[in-house]
Amino acid sequence: MGKRAWVAGCITCFAIGLALGGVLPDKKEETQKVASTDVAWECKELEPAVSKLKNQKECLLCGENSKSLIGYFRKFDDIGIISVNDWYVLGLKVRNYDEHGNLKGALGGSDMGFVSTGEDGFRFRTNRNSDRGIVEVTVEYGKDHVLDEKFAKKHLCQECLDKLWKVMETYGEEGKLAEPKALCLVDFQTLELYSLQGQNVSYFVRDYYVQVDAGEEETGVQAVYAPVMVKEK
Ligand SMILES: [Zn+2]
Repeated sequence: MGKRAWVAGCITCFAIGLALGGVLPDKKEETQKVASTDVAWECKELEPAVSKLKNQKECLLCGENSKSLIGYFRKFDDIGIISVNDWYVLGLKVRNYDEHGNLKGALGGSDMGFVSTGEDGFRFRTNRNSDRGIVEVTVEYGKDHVLDEKFAKKHLCQECLDKLWKVMETYGEEGKLAEPKALCLVDFQTLELYSLQGQNVSYFVRDYYVQVDAGEEETGVQAVYAPVMVKEK
């Protein structure tokens, strides 16, 4: 009896040991999971979309739609910001031009401007020193600052819609909905689009150096004309 009790005791100890061995590491794992969930971020891409535009000529980016200011700005060697939900286009005017798009030299002074796309839209504050090739823009968000996918599908051809979707990639907390801001940068010469979704990022658009800082309430954009240096003769 005594021997059997000892064996039984040992089996119980073994079982408890197994149980403890099983529980402890799991608990540890759980703690790690909770900790990593707190800081888990991910890239968020939009689901591929199909354009509903029947006539490419009506495309707001590459077409000849009279409602789009892109056609007007194409004569300028410049870049701009598009408020995508209403297709308002802000020419950055990094350098000085006449109305035909010819470059002018320094005109003296700098200027500050303000424009709004409506009560719930974006508010653009510009600070230009075009004599030096520098522009700073602060874009404050209104209520309607998240990309309206329906509007884009209705007014852009498939090629332009694909371009736009690429620059709407955001980086955010895992599991949360992607809410790209309805903003992007455009090169008036090539009609390529560039992202304004990043925090503290910079890139070149031909000879323009662009810095972007998208925050919770506003996005800051700085553009500088910075061509590659050539050797002095
Ligand atoms: Zn198009």
